[in-house]
Amino acid sequence: MPPPTDDVRAVFFDAVGTLLFPDPGAVAVYTEAARRRGVDLSPDLVRARFWAAYQAEEVADLAAGWATSEAREEARWRRIVADTLPEVGDGLFAELFGHFARPDAWRVDPDAAALFAELAGRGIVLGMGSNYDARLMSVLAGHRELDPLAGRVVVSAAVGWRKPARTFFAEVERAAGVPAADILFVGDDLDNDYHGATAAGLRAVLLDPNARHPDVSDRITRLSGILDRVTGSAG
Ligand SMILES: [Mg+2]
Repeated sequence: MPPPTDDVRAVFFDAVGTLLFPDPGAVAVYTEAARRRGVDLSPDLVRARFWAAYQAEEVADLAAGWATSEAREEARWRRIVADTLPEVGDGLFAELFGHFARPDAWRVDPDAAALFAELAGRGIVLGMGSNYDARLMSVLAGHRELDPLAGRVVVSAAVGWRKPARTFFAEVERAAGVPAADILFVGDDLDNDYHGATAAGLRAVLLDPNARHPDVSDRITRLSGILDRVTGSAG
């Protein structure tokens, strides 16, 4: 493990898969929504279709140079719903898109509140950097334990660029108010979070709870692992 660093002045977190988790998970939500429309599909089939559709949109975003917008995010999810549940047609899109705008569709990592308090006590600026859209703000509004991030939430659809684009991380740097090299970015996606942040000059740590990336040296298996890496001005 790298030694603690006393020059990290800001910690920015990815949202989905890092601080926020859909509960129930997306596959269960999609499967149950189809079932209510009279279409019975196995969760394994829904999972395979969902991830294929999700990856196809990642490829489309790469081809577009990582540009995004509210309209692009809605189009992304409209296609993922259509490709995952073709038997149901377009009727489920609005229901599923709306579902994930609700705070009660998500749970927050139970260690988050204590972690934020400890980091804030060390004088660390806290924020969030997410590939998402305006729905993230309605989700955050329902989870007060994420209030310490308020005012420094960087959302791709609002920025116009998504992770891993350097232009997205430039907006993180602006929101943090400190140089890129003094920001630690924490996320669960190797390409979008870890490689994106480091390529933009930030520090990064990969949240890797299932140890899928043992080759990455800067990784933690739970959020509290950050505390070993951030001394802070008050530490
Ligand atoms: Mg994530």
